[in-house]
Amino acid sequence: MQGGWIHVITGCMFSGKTDELLRLLRRAEIAGRRIVLVRPTLDDRTRPEVVESRSGVAFRARPVTGAAAIPAIVTTERSSVVAIDEAQFFDPELPEIVELLAAEGRTVLVSGLDQDFLGRPFNTMPSLLALADQVTKLTAICTVCGADATRTQRMVGGRPAAADDPLIVVGGMHDDRYEARCRAHHVIGGARGAIPLALDLSSGS
Ligand SMILES: [Zn+2]
Repeated sequence: MQGGWIHVITGCMFSGKTDELLRLLRRAEIAGRRIVLVRPTLDDRTRPEVVESRSGVAFRARPVTGAAAIPAIVTTERSSVVAIDEAQFFDPELPEIVELLAAEGRTVLVSGLDQDFLGRPFNTMPSLLALADQVTKLTAICTVCGADATRTQRMVGGRPAAADDPLIVVGGMHDDRYEARCRAHHVIGGARGAIPLALDLSSGS
């Protein structure tokens, strides 16, 4: 049996991780390999059943509630290639499951954000990067200066998000957006007390 392989594709938002994952899946498909693509159910930015690239390539995705659900799907589908999208949102069991799948001789393609919006290593991504046989770290373009961007800037109400801003902004997600930034232009906002009252929707003071 061919040896397994773990390939982690990472970087900040807008770095093209999903496009790269789908490119590799397309190649595996041409090679006649059996593929399964999973993603966590909690990500609702796109239709959960389909992962689509900007170039229009799309693959059916199996939404899963946790990493423990992945091996059963892989066994049922008899997949030799397992793709995991939005890996940063999975539970702490994911690295163990990925190792198991690779030990069975499968190719495991993992795509996920390496850092959260504060620049901190994101959940199990550091472990997955350490366990990987191959790492592709992609960069985006800084929206301020045009340099290579490696960080995700969160903006809430037009201002850099603070460390203690809620992950979900009460009263409208349209005020919550993300940009790619270089190290010099990645800003962590001041404490919430510095945010104008009109934007401070979750507490009165
Ligand atoms: Zn910059």
